[in-house]
Parts: sequence; C-alpha cells; structure tokens
Amino acid sequence: MADEQKTYEPATCGHCGGIGCTYCDKTGTVLVRAPKKACPECEGVGCIYCGFTGWAHPKGKYD
Ligand SMILES: [Zn+2]
Ligand SMILES: [Zn+2]
Repeated sequence: MADEQKTYEPATCGHCGGIGCTYCDKTGTVLVRAPKKACPECEGVGCIYCGFTGWAHPKGKYD
C-alpha cells in the first residue's frame, strides 16, 4: 500500500491546545490524516496511540 495517496491537514495540538509543546514541535498544530478526527483511544486528551496529539493518525516522523 505504499502508493496509497495520503492527505494531511493541520489540527490544533490536543496536548497543549495550541500553545506549543514537544509533541507538536512547538508549533501548536499537528498534521493529521484528512479528514481529521479525534483519537478514539483518548477522545482528544492525548495518549501513546495518537502521539499525544489527541488526533487519530497524526503524521509522524516515521511516515
Ligand atoms: Zn502541542
Ligand atoms: Zn489518543
């Protein structure tokens, strides 16, 4: 599935609420796979599954 087209859109970082933290690289926003939706594991609070962004499928360093 390497040639699957992925699109991402910016979302306010769920961990810091836009202030900026290590999880959003101090930007306050994170790129998440479109259409963005809250992480089903933590409902936006932040957990290991969403990289502490609060969003499902954040664009990670490993993508
Ligand atoms: Zn943040
Ligand atoms: Zn989560």
